[in-house]
Amino acid sequence: MEEEINQETVAEPQSKVDETQLRLAARKRRRSSIVVTQKVTKIYGRGVTRVSALKAVSLRVRKGEFIAVLGPSGSGKTTLLNMIGALDRPTAGRVFIDGIETSSVPENRLYQIRRNKLGFIFQTYYLVPTLSALQNVLMPVLPVKGSDRYYRRAERLLKMMGLKGRMHHKPGELSGGEQQRVAIARALILNPGVILADEPTGNLDSKTGAEIIQLMHWLNKKRGKTFIIVTHDRRIADSAERVFYLRDGRLSRIPIEADG
Ligand code: ADP
Ligand code: MG
Repeated sequence: MEEEINQETVAEPQSKVDETQLRLAARKRRRSSIVVTQKVTKIYGRGVTRVSALKAVSLRVRKGEFIAVLGPSGSGKTTLLNMIGALDRPTAGRVFIDGIETSSVPENRLYQIRRNKLGFIFQTYYLVPTLSALQNVLMPVLPVKGSDRYYRRAERLLKMMGLKGRMHHKPGELSGGEQQRVAIARALILNPGVILADEPTGNLDSKTGAEIIQLMHWLNKKRGKTFIIVTHDRRIADSAERVFYLRDGRLSRIPIEADG
């Protein structure tokens, strides 16, 4: 009898603590969401050319996560990144970056958010062919007065990417993997928390692709960068913390057949 009572008096505050801890943990998880999409829909065109590229896509990514979104060609991967990256606006739904609702921020302020919070990597690198690797890395901060600090940072980043001896080479004088590493350094120049990558290994051979994947994981682990990667590349999905699948504009956690 006495034992029972004791157990109860012990058990009750214990469960209260558990509840409070669960609530706090839940709040913490909400707080540290760095990218959130709420029922994001994107419709291109109208009438016969109307395309529903995204259908009510809801996604929540926490700081420091490494997320892969897999989907066949035309499934809406680039559109999703454009929405998250505030490069284009959703037809409906909301997008939050680090707590800021970008889908309702005026265009003239979006630029600042893109610049400070997001880094972009693309399948075809988008380097300026007439500029050196170093100048390409500096592109996002030019023209800026007193850019000495950035110049040194750009050099450091290129060294970090293993391109110490390639700083003054132009993109045409670099291999695909080297060009992508220049593009990654460029994405990092303003020290964003989130890197958005659109098929970053799509143009690379298997070995070079694997190196780029490794590099992204290193940046995730050692530099705390959050990665959202849309891709065909199974290896990215296999090494990601969480994998989502896009099919015809719908996002799910359920794998799709290997059809893309
Ligand atoms: P993915 O990157 O997975 O290949 P996209 O996001 O590029 O897919 O495209 C999703 C769908 O939206 C496709 O059917 C594509 O044709 C269409 N689409 C993409 N961009 C536009 C655009 N600017 N105007 C009209 N339709 C578009
Ligand atoms: Mg695409």
